[in-house]
Amino acid sequence: MSIKPPEEQVQPLQGEEQFAFDCGPDLSCFTECCRALDLVLTPYDVLRLRQNLGITSDQFLERYAMVEASEDEAFPMVFLAMVDDGRASCPFVAVSGCTVYQDRPAACRAYPLGRGLRLTGCDGRKIQELFVLVREPHCRGFELDRKKDAATWMDGQGLAAYNRVSDALLPLLRHPKIQQGWRPTPAQKAQYLKTLYQLEHLQEQLLAGEADRLVAADPQGRAATELAALDEMELLLVAIDWLRNEFKL
Ligand code: SF4
Ligand code: SF4
Repeated sequence: MSIKPPEEQVQPLQGEEQFAFDCGPDLSCFTECCRALDLVLTPYDVLRLRQNLGITSDQFLERYAMVEASEDEAFPMVFLAMVDDGRASCPFVAVSGCTVYQDRPAACRAYPLGRGLRLTGCDGRKIQELFVLVREPHCRGFELDRKKDAATWMDGQGLAAYNRVSDALLPLLRHPKIQQGWRPTPAQKAQYLKTLYQLEHLQEQLLAGEADRLVAADPQGRAATELAALDEMELLLVAIDWLRNEFKL
């Protein structure tokens, strides 16, 4: 998995177009796809992984992540840090497979599909979903004649919650103002990371009465204690909306 695989390995999928693929521990390539990755973690990926590992966001970011700026992106990107074992393995891969399987990141769930999103419509708020198939040479799953389409594959991978957060993030990350050259200040970049990738800090601020702007912006008019008590995914969605409000995006 890389952010931009070579063009010849990428095949756009149309509508219900079928492809032959399956994956499993009997294949000789099992876990080969879990090495040397440019795996971008969304805020929801980090939330699920640190819940799985029973650690805080701060501990997760320190042990397992790298934060990098990219010229192509307005906001900093959080990557899963590979292990220095000579094969650049994912920190969560074992001989038996993925040790965080129930909470593996969205990109791992979707693989070998990539899910692209773009904003369309006259108000630029409608989300269009596009799929590509990535055929990496090491992946033997394409040799199995088990046909499926993109929707069937994605449905089987438990992506609904992941996609809900990615869809909510899209207007923040791909706002037309960004295409026109708007860039966040260093303070706004830090606020983006702290608010979305270290959600416990937001909960603490809410409980300490230090998140007045977020409370004032809540469209449902909930009290700080109500917001702090939300399920973490719901709080993440509130936080995304709030950042759009803060950054006027
Ligand atoms: S078939 Fe592809 S996705 Fe499955 S284990 Fe092998 S390399 Fe990974
Ligand atoms: S999180 Fe799991 S599925 Fe994803 S690369 Fe690591 S071991 Fe593989």
